[in-house]
Amino acid sequence: MNPLSVALKGKGVLTLARRGVSLVSRYGLTAARLDGELRRLADLTEQYGCRATLPITTVVLRRHAALIRAYAARGVEFAMHGYQHVDHSQLDEAAQTAQLGAARRVFEQAGLPLRGFRAPYLRNNAATLAVLRGLGLTYDASPAHAWEVLDGPETPAYRHVKEFFHARSAERYPVVPHVADGLVRLPYSLPDDESLVERLALTGAAPMRRLWLAILQRAYALGELFVIGLHPERTTLCFEALRAVLGEARGLQPAVWIARLDEIADWWRARAAAVVTLTAAGEGAYRVTASGPAGLTVLTRAVELQTEAAEWADGWRRAAGLSFELRAARRPCLGAAPQTAPALLDFLRQQGYVVEVAAERERYGLYLDRPSFSAEAQRPLLAEIEAAAVPLVRLGRWPAGARSALAVTGDIDALTVWDYGLRLIER
Ligand SMILES: [Zn+2]
Repeated sequence: MNPLSVALKGKGVLTLARRGVSLVSRYGLTAARLDGELRRLADLTEQYGCRATLPITTVVLRRHAALIRAYAARGVEFAMHGYQHVDHSQLDEAAQTAQLGAARRVFEQAGLPLRGFRAPYLRNNAATLAVLRGLGLTYDASPAHAWEVLDGPETPAYRHVKEFFHARSAERYPVVPHVADGLVRLPYSLPDDESLVERLALTGAAPMRRLWLAILQRAYALGELFVIGLHPERTTLCFEALRAVLGEARGLQPAVWIARLDEIADWWRARAAAVVTLTAAGEGAYRVTASGPAGLTVLTRAVELQTEAAEWADGWRRAAGLSFELRAARRPCLGAAPQTAPALLDFLRQQGYVVEVAAERERYGLYLDRPSFSAEAQRPLLAEIEAAAVPLVRLGRWPAGARSALAVTGDIDALTVWDYGLRLIER
């Protein structure tokens, strides 16, 4: 399928036509307008002590390398958003190897570090992931998650785009990173700026702010990751909504960790590999030792701590230090039967839980015995563990005791109306 027909399929003829009319005002004939929008985005994030991640289509990067380097020098991360803006789910491995290999060379020629990828149209296939691993990239930021925050019923246009993106409901599936064969998959949150403006037809700052603040609250309550999608050409249009989210996030305690996607991917991979040991220290007493990346924190529940600790959230306490003793009625971790599905063990460890595989069921307050495990079972399992009032030690999901995480991202498909037009015909 050529890019024009993919665009038509994704957006619908009417939406695309309406979009065409506004393109010149959105992008401009030179990069001056987009440069102004990028500057506003960079200024705002810096004001809140954070930096954005901007995936960019690399034919656009090649045409505007000096402009992009100036933002990279300010700490903005650039990721790969295709060599051309094409639907990677329709390409085989050989075609993607050629496309993404070419994209990496553009990054090298521009002198920019490259850590991650977001698929154009958020659409890719298994071959995409294999190619990314082969290129040595750290993360793929394409999986879409839709937060159930709309005030009213969905519009057909929004429902359509969710299907086009294969978006999963955030109410049914945890919105967290996931390491798969060494590659970190990072979620993308809907509604993004395009959904707010074009699919839900919201106008004015108040309704956009309300929906993004609702996502922040939900992600915070769940301890999960809100990845804002804001195409830089709509910075001014969505400025108040973004400012409200950053301001609210900075005021929350425990904190919200606001970081770039490369930092989040590095943290998740390192924290998932952290090691916690529990050794007996007398009758009903245990020594806990954790080792892992800087920022690692240990949370405990329903135990008698022999170290200083502070209330954290949801009944958990944050222990001071990474090595201490505690007293507990049961072994303070999750137990799992030997036949437990490896996917379940991997999922829980990636969330920071300590799980021991052992046949002695009675040693543990909560003992899991599930030979099969699906993505649909993830959220119910987390709810079951959180609701169980049993002694537990776990690692904080996010660094330095943060409760949830937030990333500001925005795909650069074009910097001028010419880039936008070329992306539809360029082969
Ligand atoms: Zn795009």
